[in-house]
Amino acid sequence: MGSPVCGFLKQNNIIFLRFFAILVLSCIPDRTNLCSNPSFDTPTIPPHSSSSSIPSSLKTLTLDGYFSFENLKHAAKDFGNICHYLPIAVLHPKSVSDISSTIKHILYMSSVTKLTVAARGRGHSLQGQAQAYQGVVINMESLDRPSMYIENGEVPYVDVSGGELWINILHETLKYGLSPKSWTDYLHLTVGGTLSNAGISGQAFRHGPQINNVYQLEVVTGRGEVVTCSDKENADLFYGVLGGLGQFGIITRARISLGPAEKMVKWIRVLYSEFSTFSNDQEHLISSNNSFDYIEGFVMINRTGLLNNWRSSFNPKDPIQASQFSSDGKILYCLEMVKYFNPEKIDVLNQDIEKLLSELNYIPSTLFLSEVSYVEFLDRVHLSEIKLRSKGLREVPHPWLNLLIPKSRIFDFAEGVFGNIVKDNNNGPILIYPVNKAKWNNRTSMVTPEEDIIYLVAFLSSALPGTDGLEHIMTQNQHILDFCAKAQLGAKQYLPHYHTQDEWRAHFGTQWETFVQRKSAYDPLAILAPGQRIFQKAISIT
Ligand code: FAD
Repeated sequence: MGSPVCGFLKQNNIIFLRFFAILVLSCIPDRTNLCSNPSFDTPTIPPHSSSSSIPSSLKTLTLDGYFSFENLKHAAKDFGNICHYLPIAVLHPKSVSDISSTIKHILYMSSVTKLTVAARGRGHSLQGQAQAYQGVVINMESLDRPSMYIENGEVPYVDVSGGELWINILHETLKYGLSPKSWTDYLHLTVGGTLSNAGISGQAFRHGPQINNVYQLEVVTGRGEVVTCSDKENADLFYGVLGGLGQFGIITRARISLGPAEKMVKWIRVLYSEFSTFSNDQEHLISSNNSFDYIEGFVMINRTGLLNNWRSSFNPKDPIQASQFSSDGKILYCLEMVKYFNPEKIDVLNQDIEKLLSELNYIPSTLFLSEVSYVEFLDRVHLSEIKLRSKGLREVPHPWLNLLIPKSRIFDFAEGVFGNIVKDNNNGPILIYPVNKAKWNNRTSMVTPEEDIIYLVAFLSSALPGTDGLEHIMTQNQHILDFCAKAQLGAKQYLPHYHTQDEWRAHFGTQWETFVQRKSAYDPLAILAPGQRIFQKAISIT
């Protein structure tokens, strides 16, 4: 009873009334220190005042799970491998109440400490977004929920933990002949991690991003309250959390919409040498009714011999013509399409595909086809991951840049960037594909350009060891951003990363006020997701 937590629980409401919460709406101003130092320190955020007393105070909490205070370097690492902020502790929660108690305790301590909390999914962030400098990182994967619940009725759904991996959801739902409808290209990501961003892939043109395929969430807010929310109940929190960059609450459970799953997929690639023909065809396909189930695309700049690489997994429709194809040094654009099918209905599928392809204007000799299982297709990036790991090339820095460009300016973007700013794509793939904004629910926190069709353009670069790769790629990324700004393309960053408050304000545009209001409603002391560097933890005055 004498513990600070119990005291706090009793006085919870009173203390909140007495708090004069100062939400410091500023970002950490020192640009040079941000994520530029590969060592595990980075003192960009002033440490809290009584750091030595923090671990012992956390130890007083009664939990189903536990804290670890040593060997925490893994929590200061992410896929980006550019930012490294050491936390003071990692919570391995076994229950939702572990998370709630920890947040309430940190609130209770907030008159003496700037302790913050970051939920960490798989740590596949790029710039330290799931890290907390001298704060507490919550390892969401250890959250022990009852096993997934699948509702197989008229409106099928699955209830999953916020720390669940999408690959596990796929395997489990397939047992019922069901599957989520909207994916990411890579499935070893957590539900909480992708729902905090958006979750965009080649199905988004039809189903919207993953954040539009959620019926309900359970969230622990920055006040430590456990709240169930949906379109009907606590809707402001529901839409705030979806695409909310972890700012308003920690997702502990999500109810995800499901649809019937097919067994196989026909996977098709065709090439273009003219950008406008390529993008016209992409836009035609995403607007057609009986179209493909997945539509993406990528750019190849100075990539000779690429078609040979495809031969291991794709068959050319006409091998002789395909072998004679030469790009003549031109930039090539690859349209990638997939149709799901049941093997018993292969004839209908082939007719449908033939019709769809007949409406396109690709280079005829460059039609490549493949047939794989639904799981193999969805889990395709994992195979590359295994290969990279075996070569020791997965743990390199990944200075990725993801942009959303309005359709009306995509040609200007392509003309200005491909071949001019980006002279080759030897550092990694460049994805480019359009999606229909009509499928996007604009009540979520996610920000997109204001047009009916927008393009996702993803520069997925890896900085290889022993080169000046990281510096070169980061400079190139900045040139792309500068070009977008100068040409006033109306671009928005996806998986955004900024240094100043003005940049965040510009990113959110007219949604900024709502974002700030939600922050003060659900996380008034700015405890949550400090690694996004949007708000700075406030000190409470009691
Ligand atoms: P983390 O990196 O751990 O967390 C991301 C953010 O969410 C952090 O701010 C964190 O604090 C917060 N967070 C984590 N869990 C929770 C939770 N339960 N509640 C509230 N906040 C939480 N994205 C796409 O949209 N489409 C793609 O096709 C795609 N492909 C990818 C491929 C690869 C190889 C990689 C590495 C990433 C890809 N991503 C893609 C990006 C991915 O969506 C983000 O990295 C995202 O952050 C998910 O990663 P994570 O689960 O590891 O979350």
